[in-house]
Amino acid sequence: MIVCDEPTSALDVSVQAQILNLLKALQDDLGLAYLFITHNFAVVDYLAHEVAVMYLGRIVERGLVDEVLRSPQHPYTQALLSAVPSPRLDAQPEFIRLAGEMPSPANPPSGCHFHPRCPQASAICREGYPETSRVTATHTVRCHLFGSTEPNKQFADAGGRK
Ligand code: SF4
Repeated sequence: MIVCDEPTSALDVSVQAQILNLLKALQDDLGLAYLFITHNFAVVDYLAHEVAVMYLGRIVERGLVDEVLRSPQHPYTQALLSAVPSPRLDAQPEFIRLAGEMPSPANPPSGCHFHPRCPQASAICREGYPETSRVTATHTVRCHLFGSTEPNKQFADAGGRK
């Protein structure tokens, strides 16, 4: 497995494409696994099979790329996807403007760490961090809007390549 931490973020777009094509070819030819850290959903869409969305150091949504990009469930994922041209959604969602600034990970807000900025926050969100809820066999979310509290299980073997 190769860890790639923002490997193309500082590159010219044409060079980015060359690097991504090279990584994709190596992935296909050698069966390499990448842990790819990026802020670019277009890169996720092009290269990844599974995606985990993090907020303040915690995974808040996780699933196969196709289901997370087509049907984002967590308000943070929805806000992120509303800010970029969507590669998967049939219609571009209305832009969701988040309030405030990213808090310090050293002093995170109580309850759900996203609650000071979340457009859907309610009283329960300030009290406890949400458990993992299962959306599908391969898609999980941590948000009080979802009722299930199933433990987060490995799902890497449940999904195929897109
Ligand atoms: S738990 Fe509450 S604050 Fe956190 S993402 Fe869900 S609705 Fe928003």
